[in-house]
Amino acid sequence: MPNRRPKLTPPPPDTEARRGIPPVVCYPPETLQTPQGLGPATPTGTIVGVQADARDAATFTARAGQTVRIRSIEGPQVGDLNLWNAHDITEHFYSGKTRALHGTHVTTGDFLWSNLPHLRPMATVTHDSLDWYGIDDYGGAVHDVIGTRCDPYTHALLSDGGQYHHCCHSNLTRAFADETGLPLDQAEPFIHDVLNVFMCTGFTRDTGQYFMKASPVRPGDVFEFRAEIDLIGALSACPGGDCGAEHSSDVTPCYPLLVEIFDTAHTTTHQPPGANPYDRTHGR
Ligand SMILES: [Zn+2]
Repeated sequence: MPNRRPKLTPPPPDTEARRGIPPVVCYPPETLQTPQGLGPATPTGTIVGVQADARDAATFTARAGQTVRIRSIEGPQVGDLNLWNAHDITEHFYSGKTRALHGTHVTTGDFLWSNLPHLRPMATVTHDSLDWYGIDDYGGAVHDVIGTRCDPYTHALLSDGGQYHHCCHSNLTRAFADETGLPLDQAEPFIHDVLNVFMCTGFTRDTGQYFMKASPVRPGDVFEFRAEIDLIGALSACPGGDCGAEHSSDVTPCYPLLVEIFDTAHTTTHQPPGANPYDRTHGR
């Protein structure tokens, strides 16, 4: 394979000294609010269930204070999650800042943040049955906020124009169009970079390339989060299945995912987060 990233510049004499400078964490999270109500949720009433079929997506709604539980039910399966403010769909999940604040993968106690200029917790991860996994010897971890989503445009570029219509991007677009009544072309721009629930990913140590490996998820595993504001959500059961081999095709075994929405003892006293405290004058 040809080297696509040649080093054309000779290293300076102090190469080792420059490389040896220790890193600092960009966004120490200690001053963020402390997440509340962590641990497996106990439903106090009716559980509303929505199923994302294999290679397809489903939408759901959750009121502020309700818990959303994503459950593996038939086989190892990755789910691509989008979230919107139910009252203003221009406010949506911001995977990039969630990654910057909490790391490349999220787990219990992390917030799921919304985009600028809102930047507030849309949800709090309250329980993750895969939290035992940690970071493996390859640098892989679970519940990825790196990978954006599989999409037919990247697939077309990498497969000589190949057309595939059940990438998570397309599944989410169809589901969001059905939820909102928007035509497909107007719904599509609202689809955003995802939280890859149950997906095990990392970066290769030698080349820095994004990798995936078979998810450790098994039927019965759950990923739970509490809605901090009223939410519309969409979950795609990725055509990559457990994402251990390939995606953007019908080759890999795929399974449905179950989304359950319910009240807990927390729900009735829940206080939604306020607006971001920045005054938005931008120096003018
Ligand atoms: Zn996907």
